[in-house]
Amino acid sequence: MSGRIIFATGNAGKMKEIRMIMADTGMEIVSMKEAGIAPDIEENGTTYEENALIKARAVAACTDDIVLADDSGLEIDYLGGEPGVYSARYLGEDTSYRIKNATLVQRLEGVPDEKRTARFVCAIAAVLPDGRELTTRAAVEGQIGYEEKGEHGFGYDPIFYVPKFHKTTAELTEEEKNQVSHRGQALQRMKEELKKYESVNCE
Ligand code: IMP
Repeated sequence: MSGRIIFATGNAGKMKEIRMIMADTGMEIVSMKEAGIAPDIEENGTTYEENALIKARAVAACTDDIVLADDSGLEIDYLGGEPGVYSARYLGEDTSYRIKNATLVQRLEGVPDEKRTARFVCAIAAVLPDGRELTTRAAVEGQIGYEEKGEHGFGYDPIFYVPKFHKTTAELTEEEKNQVSHRGQALQRMKEELKKYESVNCE
C-alpha cells in the first residue's frame, strides 16, 4: 500500500495505537489535526458502525485521502448492554471515569463473577477515495471487577478484567493491550480489507 490515511480522531492514544498497527503498510498515518481538518461532528448514530461512518464521512468530505474512524464502547450483560454505544456520554461527558467506574461497580453489587460478563466493542469505518465504504468490528470479552485496578489505559480499563491475563486492561502494557484489544483487532481486520482493496486497484 502507499499514500496517506487520515484517522478521524483527536485522541493521541488512538493515534499511537493505529500508527503501531499500520506501521508495516507503508502508508503515512496522519491525524485530522495534522491534515488541517476540523469538521464539526455530531455522533448521533445508534450503532458503533453508524457513528464510525458519520466521523469518517465528515472527514472524507474534506480530502481525497483514505479516511478511517472508530467508535467503541463497553457492554455489560447484567445491565442489558449498558453503557454500550453511549459509553463516552454515560453519566455525562464531563463526569470523571473514577465516578463512572465506581457507579458501574456499585450497580453490580452482589452480582457473582459468572454474571459480571462484559465486552469492549469497536467498529472501524473506512471511506475510500472512490467513495466506497467499509466497516470492521471486533470485541474483547471480560468481566467487570470489584474495584479499580491498574494505572495504564483510559476510561473503563481499570474495571475491565481479562481472565486470560488475570489482569484488568489498565494493568496490561501497551503492547499486551494492543494484541487483545477490540480496537487493535478491528484495525487489524481493516488493514486486511484495505490490502484487498489495494490489490484490486493494481490488477
Ligand atoms: P469513542 O471514543 O467515541 O469510541 O468512545 C468510546 C468510549 O468507550 C470511551 O470514551 C471509553 O469510555 C470507552 N472505551 C472504549 N474503548 C475503551 C478502552 O479500550 N478502554 C477503556 N474504555 C474504553
